[in-house]
Parts: sequence; structure tokens; C-alpha cells
Amino acid sequence: MKNLKKLIILTGPSGVGKGTVIKEILAKDKNIWLSISATTREPREGEKEGENYYFLNQEKFKEMIKQNLFLEWAQFAGNYYGTPLSSVNAKIKQGLSVLLEIEVEGAKQIKEKFPNSLSIFLLPPNKKELERRIRNRGTEKEEAIKKRLSRANYEISASDEFDFALTNNDVDETAKRIIELIQT
Ligand code: 5GP
Repeated sequence: MKNLKKLIILTGPSGVGKGTVIKEILAKDKNIWLSISATTREPREGEKEGENYYFLNQEKFKEMIKQNLFLEWAQFAGNYYGTPLSSVNAKIKQGLSVLLEIEVEGAKQIKEKFPNSLSIFLLPPNKKELERRIRNRGTEKEEAIKKRLSRANYEISASDEFDFALTNNDVDETAKRIIELIQT
């Protein structure tokens, strides 16, 4: 794989606003392509197959692990998530920058394999605000919310292992800053 500086990892706790920031980034810079992950979690209302995720059952996911079809994969709050290898390779060959929106363990795997990749951690303004955002989203049951909040503490404690840690106070500002980091 050439052009490894074009691999960008965006990580941050559930509820930090990665999705909203990414929408802004993609709208502002057409040379950035967002990788679509595979997951075993149930689709949320409005989520579409092949657009938000490839929704797989555990059997299929594990089969893909066996066949080495993931660039990285990890478990998060009781489900599997992974980045399909083939599409990332294809987009990098096309000259696009590939953005991976993944959790901490996957981010570590990518950084190890591709030290030239750019890793960015998105921090919430504070933990109270993070909890408010997860709850307001209304997409998870209490048990899943608890898992995500405890995982958030662990993830935030790993934020200093990233090239950059940015606080997401304002979506537009954060998106602009990330594009600057990608373009320099
Ligand atoms: P959600 O269920 O909220 O869509 O995602 C849960 C977590 O999994 C988020 O932190 C998200 O960044 C992460 N995630 C999504 N896709 C992948 C992936 O392909 N690999 C890894 N390691 N994490 C992922």
C-alpha cells in the first residue's frame, strides 16, 4: 500500500460527535473517502446497509476474520466491528485520502501497521456533556449506554497515544482543523 500518509484514523468516545464532524469533513473536501465498516450490531433506525455499515451476523464476521479480509477489527460494547481491506486499498490506489472512523483498539492496530498514518482523537468538552449526548441520541438501551460510558473513560485515557487530540466544541471548527491536519 503506497501513500500511507493518506490513511487517517478518527477515534473518540461514543457520543463525542464523530459522525457529525465527519459529515462536515466530507462535504468540505471531496478527496476524502470514508471507509464503511462491517459490524455485528443491529442497525439503528434509519441506518442503511452499505451506507452506514455492512451489517453481518457473527458467523459471517468471524469467517471474514479467518480469511484475513479485515485491515483491523475489534470488539466494542459486545459487538464486532472491522474495516474491510479491499475497499480501503482500492480508494488509496485511486489517490483518495481514506478516513477510518474506528475505536481505540482498531486505531492502535492501524498505527502499528502504518506508522505514517495520521491519528486523531476527538475529546468531548466534558464527560457530563458526553453522557447527555449519548442519552439524547436515544438510540441505545440503558445497558448499552452504561457499556458505552464505561468504555468512554477507557478510551479517553488512551487519547494521549494519538498524534493529535482535539476537543469537539464546535463541529465546523473541528472539521476545519482536521482538514488542515490532513492537508499538511
Ligand atoms: P457505533 O455502534 O456507535 O456505530 O460504533 C461504536 C464504536 O465502534 C465507535 O467508537 C466507532 O468508531 C467504532 N467502529 C466503527 N467501525 C469500526 C471498525 O471498523 N473498526 C473498529 N475497530 N471500530 C469501529
